[in-house]
This record gives sequence, structure tokens and C-alpha cells, in this order.
Amino acid sequence: MYAERSGGSKSKVRYSMSIDPLTFIEPHSSYSVAIELLTDFCNLNCIYCGRHTDNVVKRKLSPLAISHIVRLMSEDRPKSVNIGGNGEITILENWMQTCEQFLTLGEVTTGTNLAKVLTDEEASILARFGHISTSIDTADANLLKEIRKPVQLRNIVFNIIKIKEAALSQGRNIPSMSICCVVSSKNYKELRQLIALASSMGVNKIHFIDLCEHEQSKTQRVFPISQLEKVAQSEFAKELDAAFDLAKKIGVKYGIDHRLLALKEKNDAVESGIISKKNQSETVLCLHPWNWFWLNSDEKLSICCKSVGKTDADVTSFGSIHEVMNNEHFMNVRKMLLSGNPPEKCRMCNLAKPSDISQLRQAVNNRKRNSWLMSNIVPYARHIPFARAIGRRLLGVS
Ligand code: SF4
Ligand code: SF4
Repeated sequence: MYAERSGGSKSKVRYSMSIDPLTFIEPHSSYSVAIELLTDFCNLNCIYCGRHTDNVVKRKLSPLAISHIVRLMSEDRPKSVNIGGNGEITILENWMQTCEQFLTLGEVTTGTNLAKVLTDEEASILARFGHISTSIDTADANLLKEIRKPVQLRNIVFNIIKIKEAALSQGRNIPSMSICCVVSSKNYKELRQLIALASSMGVNKIHFIDLCEHEQSKTQRVFPISQLEKVAQSEFAKELDAAFDLAKKIGVKYGIDHRLLALKEKNDAVESGIISKKNQSETVLCLHPWNWFWLNSDEKLSICCKSVGKTDADVTSFGSIHEVMNNEHFMNVRKMLLSGNPPEKCRMCNLAKPSDISQLRQAVNNRKRNSWLMSNIVPYARHIPFARAIGRRLLGVS
């Protein structure tokens, strides 16, 4: 299916039977773009955080940029909006009012460090989110404070309970919650305790991700598992297996990024997370260029948090989500991925698996097909029983 839109963002969409994998032109309210609203300000100083050393100019989005993106999304709604970024939203002035604007648009999710003690009002706002992800690298309160300076584990635990209590007292479903754990030389021996902590807080999902090395982590002498001695790597693999066994036993779902998984399985081919540059047919299996964009604090847009496909123009220059998703920078990244020449940041990315082009193309086609079905068939499915009943009546069949 090739979808074509003529005129403004609300105009009709036509389909023919071929898929153009480069273009993001999907019908109104069927796309699954998530948006990151970035702030670079944070109340923590995690030892592995790149924002401290990468000459990040700290900014926050202007009210004009926020109201513009809200307007675009109210015309062409995404499946979900993720509010977060390379900083902490709950320390921003007016963060609750900002979130209110997005909560009227559909499901809102966030990543928050939950480091400060939330007020009742703040917990009530977070209770309306669909999903909350927070970072806890270890169940050892002292070690956590050393890694994620100067966080108090008890504050995070308290905040999780407070959000749940707020949801229940508002008569809502409790937001789904997950924990993100950056695995490094500091905490790889402590993974089972973290699973147990998650379960005891009623958080049933945990993601283990690899440490991305940079100047700050080197200065702080915290290292990714791939740089540890072989003995330590094998200890990590055993600990991870034991953690997974425990997770299965107590009903905690877990995820692991492909670099850690490769290390656990001793797959040297992707040990450093860099796919071979010799084989030009290789790419990465990432659908973000087709279904995601990130609104940076400098008001430019990119495909993801790694600034891939960053636009020269700021968000207020775009008149629709359709224009955003089909800007030349995003198109170019899609082209590069589909031609086996992924951008360097994609080659190094811990979020996407190495893949061959046909696999990526298939995933893109499936996404577009599913999206088309969701918007053109599913909305009418509820009329089927009525149509059947009317048909029976007309035919006189009981
Ligand atoms: S909470 Fe996140 S943004 Fe803040 S310092 Fe830690 S890693 Fe960086
Ligand atoms: S850097 Fe990673 S998440 Fe971003 S587009 Fe590339 S593969 Fe996808």
C-alpha cells in the first residue's frame, strides 16, 4: 500500500498497492509516534551521565514550542507521548501544567528519576500517566547513592507507592511501571537483589542496559561489562542467569539490550556493539525513523535521543506531523538504513540489533501494513454484529 495525502493534514489519504518504505505518510490517528520533550536540567549527577561532560548547553523548551507541538498533535494524534529526556521534568517550574496539555491528547508516558519527594499534587498528575519508567541500578542504597549522586533509594520507593495510592484514590488504573538498570563494573554482582526489590515494590518490569562509555564515565572509573576481565564477564553472565531465574519465579518481566545479551552469550561479533563495516548489507533493526521523533530542548527535531537526523529548522517551522516525519533529514536516515549504510551513531547504538536489509524492510512494511489495517479496518469492526443482524432481518433469517 502506498499512502498519499493531498492538501492539508486533515485531507483524505489515498492508497495504492505498493509500499514506499521511505515515506512516512500514514492516515490520521494511525501512526505511533512518541515524542520526547527534553530538558537538560537534572537534580542528579549520575557517574555515567553524558550530559555533564559533553558540553551540553542546558536548555528547556519554550512555552511557544510546547504549544506548537500540542497543536500539531491535536490535529494528528500520536498513540503515545513520552515526556522526558536527558534531564528531569519534575524539577521544572510548571511541569504539571505542561503535562496537563499532553494528558488531553492520549496516553502519556515518562521517564523520571523520582529522586525528589513528590507532593500530593505531583503524585496525582503522575498517577494519570500510562507508564512510568525510573532508574534504579542497585538495591544497595549506599551504592545507588554513589552511582546516582545523591539519590536516596527510600525516596524512590516512597514516590512509587505515593503514585499508586494517588491512582487508586482517583479510581484509576495504576500506571504500569518499569525499572531501568544500567549495568556496569559497579553493580553487575547485585542484579538478583534488584529483581527482588522491583517485585516487592509491585514493579513487574525491569530493563538491563549496557553502559555507554564517554568522558564522564572514564573519569569516574565506571566501565561497561565488555571492558572487564574475562573472569568478571563470566561472573556477570552467571549473575544475569540467576537474576533471570529469580525474575521468572517471582513474575518479574525482564528485558536486556542486545550488547549485554551478546556478552552473556559470548558472541564476540557484537562485543563492542559495533557492527562490521565490511559487510555493506548490514544495517540495524530500528523502526524509530518510521515511528518516533524527539523534540530537543533547542527546539530542533531528531529521530531519537542520539540526535540522529537532527533538523536545521526548529519545531515551529513545521505545519503538521506529516511534515515533521517527512523532513529531508529523517528521510535521509531511512534511506541510509535501507541501503546498508547506517549513520555511525546507529552502528554504535545499544538500542537496535544489527540486522540485514531484508529484515528491516520487512519490519517497515509490516508496520505500515498494520498501521493501515488499524486505521481503516479496525474502527469499522464494531459495526460487523449490527450489519449481520440487519442482514438477517432483511433475509428473514432468525
Ligand atoms: S537522572 Fe538521568 S539525566 Fe539525570 S544525571 Fe542521572 S542519567 Fe543524567
Ligand atoms: S541511534 Fe539507535 S535509536 Fe537512534 S535511529 Fe539509530 S539505531 Fe535507532
